[in-house]
Formats: sequence, C-alpha cells, structure tokens
Amino acid sequence: MARLGHVQDRVARAADAAGRPAASVRLMLAVKRQPEALVREAVLAGASLLGDNTVQELAAHAPGIADLGPELHLIGHLQSNKVNAALRWATCVQTVDSVGLAERLARRCATLGRDLDVMVQVNVSGEAAKHGVAPEGARALAEHVAGLDRLRLTGFMTVGALSDDDAVVRGGFRRLREVRDDVVGSGVPGTADATELSMGMSGDLESAVAEGATIVRVGSAVFGDRPARPAR
Ligand SMILES: *Cc1c(COP(=O)(O)O)cnc(C)c1O
Repeated sequence: MARLGHVQDRVARAADAAGRPAASVRLMLAVKRQPEALVREAVLAGASLLGDNTVQELAAHAPGIADLGPELHLIGHLQSNKVNAALRWATCVQTVDSVGLAERLARRCATLGRDLDVMVQVNVSGEAAKHGVAPEGARALAEHVAGLDRLRLTGFMTVGALSDDDAVVRGGFRRLREVRDDVVGSGVPGTADATELSMGMSGDLESAVAEGATIVRVGSAVFGDRPARPAR
C-alpha cells in the first residue's frame, strides 16, 4: 500500500495549491475489479471511503470489510432492478440520474424503514458514453430528490471529460461546482446539505481539487493497472 501514501500526499498538495485545508478533500478508493484481499488491505492501511462500480462488486467486496466499517458508495450506474441489492451494501448511491431511480430508491428505503445518502450524477462533458443528467437538468432533478422522504441529498458527482486539454476538464468540474452552488443556494428544503463534489480521478484529481472537489475517487494511482475485465 505504499502508493496509498503517495496519493494522499498528492491530494494534500493539490489542496494546499488551491488554498484549501487538506481535510476538505477526502480520498475515495475506487476498487473496481480489485481482489477482496487487496481491498481489505487498503482499508487496514487507513482507507475509510471506498467506491464500487457495480452492485455485484459491492456485494463481493462488502462482507470482507464490513467489520472494519468503511463507507461504501456506489459510483457506477444503478439499474432499477438492482436497487434492493444496492441498498443491502451501499451507504451512499452517488449515481442518481433520473427521477424514476430516485423514487424507486425512496420507496424501497421507506419499506425498509431506513434512510440513504445520495448524490446526483451530472454528465458535465456531454459525452454519449457517460451516465448522468445533463447540467441543464441537474438543478431540477436535485430539487426533486431533496424533497423525497428517506433520501438525503449530500451532493453531486461527475466523471471528468476524456480530454488532454486541462481547460476542458477543469471547465467541466467548474460546471459541477456551479450546479452545486445553485442548488445549495436555492433555499429549497432538503438542499442545504448537498455540499459534496465527488469529482477527479487518478489522472485529473489536481484539476478537480482546484475546482472544489470534496471527494476524489482514485483507483489506478493506488492499485496500479486494473485486472482485466473477466471474460463473459
Ligand atoms: C474507475 C473509476 C474511478 C477511478 O479511476 P482511476 O483512473 O483508476 O483513478 C473513479 N470513478 C469512477 C466512476 C470510476 O469508474
């Protein structure tokens, strides 16, 4: 886990360069396709915030680390038919991108008598391959989510543009911050806590922190190249 320390330093330096306290940015380990033993090792080394991309991987990773009590967020697209399984393990669903999904989560939480933290995923780059609501629709969706019983809107999540041009990448992160500021400043009930900005990965975390990221999601910079996707 030597690289965990390096990445923590990178995040702290980025915060410092942006004139922000190091504690204002949390490091989330994106553990997709990592073996359970390595995930446990990372939590033992001090990682307390983890993100999984699929419900299937959540279910594979969670039991082995539950005793250590890390926060486990879902950071990949959630299909409505996987809501029940997601609720079994996720402490936060960062990828709410439709009214339908939000309402289904809220209904299921009501049945279970539990609350759930959620974020609204925004597609700031407009790339077709990316999930998330368009920036123009983000405020309306967030305000709707904020009004649903049992869901607590904690903030916004995006995957940065796939571009070598830092100005483009940074512009996207800035857009997410503007959405967040609009919503938090709206005065709409349930929006006051929506302060998180989950943005930035191994390749672009400095830009994200410069634009106000409160959670950066890092995989390869900690774990190295990911194991190949299993053949189907
Ligand atoms: C894989 C992934 C990350 C981490 O990406 P790296 O480039 O490996 O740091 C972050 N967020 C999401 C949603 C991911 O799928």
